[in-house]
Amino acid sequence: MGNEMCEKIFTERNAHAIKRMRNKEEAGWRNTAYLPYYLVNALCELIVSDEDIEDAKNRLDRFAPFIMKEFPETRETLGLIESELKEIPKMKAGLEEAYDVTIPGRLFLKKDSHLAIAGSVKARGGIYEVLKHAEDLAIEHGMLKSTDSYEVFAGEEMKKFLSGFKVQVGSTGNLGMSIGIMSAALGFHVIVHMSADARAWKKDLLRSKGVEVIEYEQDYSKAVQEGRKNSDADPKSYFVDDEKSVNLFLGYAVAAKRLKKQMEEQGIIIDEKHPLILYVPSGVGGAPGGVSYGLKRLYGDNVHCFFVEPVECPSVLLGIATQRYEKANVHEYGLSGKTEADGLACASPSSFVTRIMTNLLSGGFTVNDSRLYDFLRLLDKTEGERIEPSSCASFIGPVNWNEKIEIQEYCKMHGLTADVLANATQIVWATGGKLVPEEVWEEYLKK
Ligand SMILES: *Cc1c(COP(=O)(O)O)cnc(C)c1O
Repeated sequence: MGNEMCEKIFTERNAHAIKRMRNKEEAGWRNTAYLPYYLVNALCELIVSDEDIEDAKNRLDRFAPFIMKEFPETRETLGLIESELKEIPKMKAGLEEAYDVTIPGRLFLKKDSHLAIAGSVKARGGIYEVLKHAEDLAIEHGMLKSTDSYEVFAGEEMKKFLSGFKVQVGSTGNLGMSIGIMSAALGFHVIVHMSADARAWKKDLLRSKGVEVIEYEQDYSKAVQEGRKNSDADPKSYFVDDEKSVNLFLGYAVAAKRLKKQMEEQGIIIDEKHPLILYVPSGVGGAPGGVSYGLKRLYGDNVHCFFVEPVECPSVLLGIATQRYEKANVHEYGLSGKTEADGLACASPSSFVTRIMTNLLSGGFTVNDSRLYDFLRLLDKTEGERIEPSSCASFIGPVNWNEKIEIQEYCKMHGLTADVLANATQIVWATGGKLVPEEVWEEYLKK
């Protein structure tokens, strides 16, 4: 069956949800391409295996002495960049009251919003890819022996060596911050191509760290395109390609095993009768894809992954629902792609993630921009936690869980009855916020 045939079948199957997205209504979408995990496992293993994820984890461990030395804020965790898993019962009650809904199970916040160094989920994928590139170069040029401690990366000699190379990336803000900060720390000449959506304070912060920032008046796709072109023309330049990078994906996937350990430490059980439900905001899909993929490999059918996107920019949902993958572009559906959720303003999704997640993603939600600041204020008021607007998108999942017929269908098909859902662990993935300056918070809290 050719691609066109596939696209046609899936576009028809998902016509209802696609229509909702076209109409800019908040949608709940059940992925009709979802398959039981045992049917997908073998193919997944072929593309990104457990060994690949373990290899990424080990690489991060090797770099820990360097990270600890270069970024004193990570001393406490011995160079490990990890975030807290925090139960938020007051936010749960607050949401239930404000929206007159019942949220089943327990609600948790995974605080990647507060990850060290980059202050966003990009501290996983972005930093990992830059470290891997530095390691590859150092090995290739005989600068690193297998017995060396990776503290050598903090030394002048290595930095001088890496300063002969460039790293470039296109970004709406946070990816640029993670790549920019880590590349600069390693000594690279780093250029971040920023889309029009990027907030001014993110550009200022990067420039203050010696990062070259090029600004575009166009959207994210254009920033990526120009960055890629610029980089390809220079043999000493490496482009971090958010639209197809497997390394970024691996960096995100490492989160899964660490989260498993955190849940075990908190006595949280995940099995058939105690499902894990996950909501992650999605831009091109890399971060939510990597995190979800890692968790699917650990928990199979007992984890249910939902991506959340702005009403004006549901590119990953459209890419998978239509099986048009990276060819899907929100502008073709009459949507502007413009959103207050700057981190999610990607008009077309990742080619890699839309494919690898096609049979693994349970579904998704779209959210109105106007809700983001309501969620932001409620979380601040109830739990004293501050996360940036993009990050707040996830809360639409628990709020609309019982409101959308597609999600009810999903529950029916997958044994998520009321008594099973009562045992659910629901995790809202907070993806950014720590580096937001105080005056910007004041603006957000007033909006
Ligand atoms: C980048 C980002 C996301 C989504 O990540 P993608 O890899 O683009 O899907 C979500 N939230 C925030 C705050 C981000 O910066």
